Amino acid sequence: MSIQFQVDARAGRARAGRLLTPHGQIETPEFMPVGTAATVKSVPQDVLEELGVQILLGNTYHLYLRPGVETVRSFGGLHGFMAWPRGILTDSGGFQVFSLNELRKVNEEGVTFRSHLDGSSHFFSPESAMQAQIGLGADIIMAFDECTEYPADRARTKASMEMTLRWAQRSKKYFEEHKREVPWGTLNSDLGPRTSDPGTQPTTVPRFAGNHKLERDSTQSLFGIVQGGMDLELRKEAAERTVEIGFPGYAIGGLSVGEPRERTREVVESTLQYLPADKPRYLMGVGTPEEIVEYASLGVDMMDCVLPTRAARHGLLFTSEGKVSIKQARYTNDGGPLDPNCGCRVCQRYTRAYLRHLYASNEVLAQVLNTLHNLSFYLDTMRRVRHSIRLGEDSRFLSGLWSRPRL
Ligand SMILES: [Zn+2]
Repeated sequence: MSIQFQVDARAGRARAGRLLTPHGQIETPEFMPVGTAATVKSVPQDVLEELGVQILLGNTYHLYLRPGVETVRSFGGLHGFMAWPRGILTDSGGFQVFSLNELRKVNEEGVTFRSHLDGSSHFFSPESAMQAQIGLGADIIMAFDECTEYPADRARTKASMEMTLRWAQRSKKYFEEHKREVPWGTLNSDLGPRTSDPGTQPTTVPRFAGNHKLERDSTQSLFGIVQGGMDLELRKEAAERTVEIGFPGYAIGGLSVGEPRERTREVVESTLQYLPADKPRYLMGVGTPEEIVEYASLGVDMMDCVLPTRAARHGLLFTSEGKVSIKQARYTNDGGPLDPNCGCRVCQRYTRAYLRHLYASNEVLAQVLNTLHNLSFYLDTMRRVRHSIRLGEDSRFLSGLWSRPRL
């Protein structure tokens, strides 16, 4: 199998469903934490499992540069390498490469870019981005696209969209011809570092059964990405032509690139109506807790964003009572929980005063606890959204859900 998607309940335009991947079932709509370099910064994988993370995102650009695709492949892909048994999605590397600005050159063939690590020169084409993502072995991988810069005029947006469509075809062709090369066949017993020196004691091999329960001939799934800038007509055309190429799921890309939030919403709402109702819809790179609730209410099934984890490392915490900047002196003697309505392990155990102290002292634990709470808050928010949709509550209610006080 690759993936199967089923919508179980609808409320207005929102839908609740199940996305079955080779590494487990994902209840949708769902938020996917970002694990850029095969780690959701500061949170161990067993804790991510306890928090209820169903699927996380890895960044192809970063993993390709370090530790390199071959290393990850030799461990059976990311699941084996990072000891994560549940779903993984990798981006195509396109967005990261495009955000390098001066360090890249784009032509029809692909993108030449310089590593942000050591300045070395590399090349991504639709084919090599697929090859990298097949080697990394995520359950869901993304077509190589060009993220159109903002602002861009219509001619430039159209030319960029056309290239993304040609790249989508090339991505699909390469993927179809090579999808059997996914490294999931590597058995658990083949994983882990070994010593080749017969004079030393054999090292203990970490054993992780991440790929163990897979059905035979499980494969990855390739999603298409709809571009088209901020132009609603071009978005419509991009959506229809991407659907024509045919993918098991569709993403809306090229948003959150500096445009006003109202514009983001407009483009999302308009584009969604041209995407097939029976396929998962993934909105890339959004957003705040309010925004993810709103996009779910519009019919988005999957979202990812660095915001909860990145903000946490800067002491910015999302709570049911609004944002809390834990660095503020007003929390120095605050004996209350960070969020009185949050059931997470941080809010159940620690005071605001302690969290403020850890942050002010630059303690590693500050990052750990802040990230744990923010991730819990996002995941709980999506749990409540799914629950509301299953109860058939309408989308107007959903958009008020985030700020609704919990009783
Ligand atoms: Zn909490």
